[in-house]
Amino acid sequence: MDARFDWIAKQLKQLDGEGATRQLMPRQSQPGRMVIQSDGIDLVNFGSNDYLGMAAEQSTQRPEHGSMGSGASALVTGFSPVALQLQQRLAEWEATDSCVLFPTGFAANLGTISALAEAGDLILSDAANHASIIDGCRLSKAQRFVYPHNDTSAVAALLETHRRRFARVFIVTDSVFSMDGDFAPLETLCDLADRYDSILIADEAHGTGVFGDSGSGLCEHLGVKHRVPIRIGTLSKAIGAMGGFVVGPQVVTDYLVNRSRSMIFSTALPPALVSAALANVIQIQEEPQRRAQLFELSQRLRDRVASKWRLPPMSTPGQIVPFVVGSNEEAVRASQRLADAGLFVPAIRPPTVPKGTARLRVSLSSSHSDEEIDRLAEALCGLR
Ligand SMILES: *Cc1c(COP(=O)(O)O)cnc(C)c1O
Repeated sequence: MDARFDWIAKQLKQLDGEGATRQLMPRQSQPGRMVIQSDGIDLVNFGSNDYLGMAAEQSTQRPEHGSMGSGASALVTGFSPVALQLQQRLAEWEATDSCVLFPTGFAANLGTISALAEAGDLILSDAANHASIIDGCRLSKAQRFVYPHNDTSAVAALLETHRRRFARVFIVTDSVFSMDGDFAPLETLCDLADRYDSILIADEAHGTGVFGDSGSGLCEHLGVKHRVPIRIGTLSKAIGAMGGFVVGPQVVTDYLVNRSRSMIFSTALPPALVSAALANVIQIQEEPQRRAQLFELSQRLRDRVASKWRLPPMSTPGQIVPFVVGSNEEAVRASQRLADAGLFVPAIRPPTVPKGTARLRVSLSSSHSDEEIDRLAEALCGLR
């Protein structure tokens, strides 16, 4: 082997020793069903973020409208009429002035935070925030403090001590946290943002389509839709397509179109994808029963595992259900045992989650059946 890459081989070996190596595994999804095929075996899929079964459905039921390439950045020739329509639809759903699309949710976080927060500004970021928020903070020239997960007294103390030293302060948080499914204390964060003249940015990647009466996200569910000025979302989870978006005041989206490098210097979303996303958004708005079904399944699973597993207490049963196991090896072994029972549940290990909290992360979809949930519950109880 080329000796110049020995250091990489060594690092991979060390990861292996920690039971932390990851590999790409080809897994065939089945149109219309929450099932994947791995090594020729069918597994019920509890690992996807297709919370409303939209992605699985799309491949069978959606005719393609438009091309699979957009040809250029949105600022050159890549911005299609259907992209404008989707932006308008999203802004309306989110009850904001405006919306701008990004190539992915990752790019939306990265490009928004790094464009808005400048030298002389301060960013307060939750310790459990998504990697794309962390990287957006790192790219920004602003000063950054990471506060302990959901610790609003820490946020208050930081604001009290440091607010006056900075031109602007941004508080950035996931709304629904991806690895625990718990909620950010958005109401208190809104109060703090008001009190200390700061700007709250919420990442609704796991909220959009799932929470709130109209399904627009956790901000709606918690009654702070009009108090969180900038919200970031993805088209790739409940919406079942691909892409990211930012909603907020017109001046903010105008500014992003001029300053956000991950949007300006990346090819725009292709029209076929945008029209699939638009059709899915409309369907999600028109079919609240999908969300209701998702919460019922979540409650069903929680009820059936309650005697064996202590889950974090939640006022609303979300679609992400974490089963914290502890060590990497145990989590991988537990995941393998579920696979042997025909159930795909990914083992999530550090650095995605804190050391010693490796877990099985169950991701529910309204397309799962009661019987599939019961099979999962039984297998999870069998691990204890
Ligand atoms: C998945 C995710 C993203 C990134 O969205 P993509 O569209 O997949 O790039 C951003 N934030 C959070 C919290 C996520 O879970």
